[in-house]
Amino acid sequence: MSIDSDELTSWYREFQRDLPWRRPGVTAWQILVSEFMLQQTPVSRVEPIWLDWVARWPTPSATAAAGVGEVLRAWGKLGYPRRAKRLHECAVTIAAEHGDVVPADVETLLTLPGVGAYTARAVACFAYAARVPVVDTNVRRVVARAVHGRADSPASVRDLDDVAALLPASDAAPVFSAALMELGATVCTSRTPRCGICPLSSCLWRTAGYPAPTGPARKVQRYAGTDRQVRGRLLDVLRTNSFPVARAQLDVAWLSDTAQRDRALDSLLVDGLVEQTPDGRFALAGEGENT
Ligand code: SF4
Repeated sequence: MSIDSDELTSWYREFQRDLPWRRPGVTAWQILVSEFMLQQTPVSRVEPIWLDWVARWPTPSATAAAGVGEVLRAWGKLGYPRRAKRLHECAVTIAAEHGDVVPADVETLLTLPGVGAYTARAVACFAYAARVPVVDTNVRRVVARAVHGRADSPASVRDLDDVAALLPASDAAPVFSAALMELGATVCTSRTPRCGICPLSSCLWRTAGYPAPTGPARKVQRYAGTDRQVRGRLLDVLRTNSFPVARAQLDVAWLSDTAQRDRALDSLLVDGLVEQTPDGRFALAGEGENT
């Protein structure tokens, strides 16, 4: 069982979303920035931040020259702010060790800070048209359904080989990979697949009558009341102040559970996203000198 490349890529050429990082002239660095931002954050929230970001810092060296605090401030409310710090470290490494050019091969990309198996292959494929399997949750779900007849499948060490076997042998592979991902994001969605408009004429899950998932139900991630929310509140206070703030200013940002607030602040210090000045005030990383 395979996926018909012509069916999929014809559909993609007609119906793909107009995303700014897919437009002509976007550099490998700017694609890499989009991939960092899109991990765990929806396109609609990433788009305005990415546009501002690449206008302000179009190259790795421009990003590297900015302070970590500036980068954290520009990251805004994208969430998971450790990604911003890792992106800055990645920019520093590319500027210093790779001539300000994003490496093209997966092995070298994997040596960069913050770049894992998915991001390395996504950059190699989308920026350099490499014929490599790119597997995110959307791709995994489409392949599980269309090829294996299952509702979904958990991440597995076999995923890369599984998707590699589906890639067309020609130059069409990068478009095929983008199209597979787009199908999962816009048509073959997790909860309500829109099979009526699916371009694939063959899908084992549909043919089998949509058998129910067999594994444990996926947990719904909540945000309200979590340490992530508290960390976000504390960072919001620091982002809106260009000078270090007193502890009391952070304390009032989360009053419902003071132990949780203290734990969140400790974790921000440990992660290197926040720093403390000698007189005990708090600032975004790299901004403790602004007294
Ligand atoms: S037919 Fe339905 S389940 Fe199968 S790939 Fe298309 S959208 Fe997904």
